[in-house]
Amino acid sequence: MTDLPPPTLRLRIDSGALASNWRALHTLSGKARAGAAVKADCYGLGGDRCVPVLRDAGCRDFFVAHWSEVPAVLAHVPADRIAVLHGPLTADEVGYARATGVRPVIDSLRQAKLWNEGGGGPCHLMIDTGINRLGIAPAEASDPAIQALDVDVVMSHLACADEDSAMNARQLNAFRACLPIVSHEEASLANSAGIALGSDYGFDLTRPGLSLYGGIQRAELEDKIGQVVHPQAALIQTREIDAGETVGYNATFTARQRMRVGVVSLGYADGILRSWGGAHFIAGDRRLPILGKVSMDMIVLDLSEAPELTEGDWVELPYHLPDAAQQTAVSQYELLTLLGNRFG
Ligand SMILES: *Cc1c(COP(=O)(O)O)cnc(C)c1O
Repeated sequence: MTDLPPPTLRLRIDSGALASNWRALHTLSGKARAGAAVKADCYGLGGDRCVPVLRDAGCRDFFVAHWSEVPAVLAHVPADRIAVLHGPLTADEVGYARATGVRPVIDSLRQAKLWNEGGGGPCHLMIDTGINRLGIAPAEASDPAIQALDVDVVMSHLACADEDSAMNARQLNAFRACLPIVSHEEASLANSAGIALGSDYGFDLTRPGLSLYGGIQRAELEDKIGQVVHPQAALIQTREIDAGETVGYNATFTARQRMRVGVVSLGYADGILRSWGGAHFIAGDRRLPILGKVSMDMIVLDLSEAPELTEGDWVELPYHLPDAAQQTAVSQYELLTLLGNRFG
């Protein structure tokens, strides 16, 4: 079989920045150690690339959302260090957890009973202190089904850690009040932004996700977190257009003078949404403005500042997440997870 030629778009992942972000968050976690949220294929960046980097940086605790996400992580880290945040819905999932040794996060009385009936064993417990998503209510902590659990990490999740909201302290106090009621090995509350709220929020284990991958939701993290993801694409065609000619669907850009443009082969199918219209790519320190509308598989660039660029040359979309979120009005989380699967 002839090998498939490499794709004309790629996600460069800066492993050094990923490792250093984990170390920075670990240090900021104070006496707690930092784990890593690796759900959604490491927020879209690729578990096979990112999990080994995090593991080698010293991370031991990995969080996924779905059971379907376990095998990819299990290829790199021990089963009992993987936590499944959504917990078991069915007896099959209980059976899978017990057979593999992967830890379920128990999120309800129903899940606690299902786990106990399936034979139980070490698990984690989520207490809902106000986000009203998953987790037992604080009042349920004394229920016999919860008391019967063998809880390793008791956790809760902050709803507003990226804001200076009174909700943070309320959730902290509600979580603290639960700790004497449930016997456990360790406690965990903070996500990335929660780590920046200070050492009170650290407990034994933190669960950063976004900031591992370069997201910055609070000013405290600004000089500590580096960009990890760099979307790059090859110019697949260059052309000259005359004054008065238009570019792209609905002819929204009209050339004021004769100019050289280039086509890169990525578009909204790859997660580069139409909200990037008006932004620019870069070639070194030169700016290549996006002309007209983003298409499904293509974006047209103004090559005026980089006349030497030609077909086969690579350019990059600036993807510093706080700036990109500002530019596109798409959240930093979504800017990561919507990146498509055509990248090499
Ligand atoms: C996704 C998630 C995290 C990580 O949150 P970030 O804001 O990405 O740091 C932590 N804990 C839970 C329960 C999560 O679902």
